[in-house]
Amino acid sequence: RFITLEGGDGSGKSTQAALLEQWLTAEGRTVVRTREPGGTEVGVEIRELVLHHRGDIDPRAEALLYAADRAHHVATLVRPALARGEVVVQDRYLDSSVAYQGAGRVLDPAEVRSLSEWATGGLLPDLTVLLDLDPHAARARLDVARTRYDRLEAEASEFHDRVRRAFLDLAAAEPERFLVVDATRPVEEIAASIRERVRGLL
Ligand code: C5P
Repeated sequence: RFITLEGGDGSGKSTQAALLEQWLTAEGRTVVRTREPGGTEVGVEIRELVLHHRGDIDPRAEALLYAADRAHHVATLVRPALARGEVVVQDRYLDSSVAYQGAGRVLDPAEVRSLSEWATGGLLPDLTVLLDLDPHAARARLDVARTRYDRLEAEASEFHDRVRRAFLDLAAAEPERFLVVDATRPVEEIAASIRERVRGLL
């Protein structure tokens, strides 16, 4: 089973991924918890380039870098784990590209999606959990994590509003794949809703 978590920065994806992994492991499942960008050695280098390069990267080049990270990640880590019957719990996947490189930037979301489908050979998650959060609330949460806060500050707030809208539109278009959760709810309540949905998949 392939489960992805999506949402803006500070929406609690990594916390929920960790809690889901704990629960699945306690249920006797073998879990691979991973993330994009940066889930492989090649991916770590791409992540460094795409997130910390001084100066701008052309949007198409940026989309290709995310797609390259995803292609390598799916081919070398995700597909082999799924083939072994393991559960993959992944922080961000192709919906992040549609939302960030597509709706967030200037590219056509449909083109970004097909690029990603080409890169992954069409691998779609069995379940995508969208942790929905108002970007302004997210900003307040990230206040403690200085570097991330600075990056958020640097990007216009309309950008994050477009990203949030794009995630919600994706979820509305594929309700059978998505579980949308209000990320302002208590951590344990969110974890329980996710477990309930995942239980149905196992
Ligand atoms: O969730 P994580 O901290 O790994 O994401 C780092 C940043 O990478 C996000 O804030 C987002 O701006 C960016 N990102 C992106 N496009 C993706 C994935 C991540 O712009 N496909």
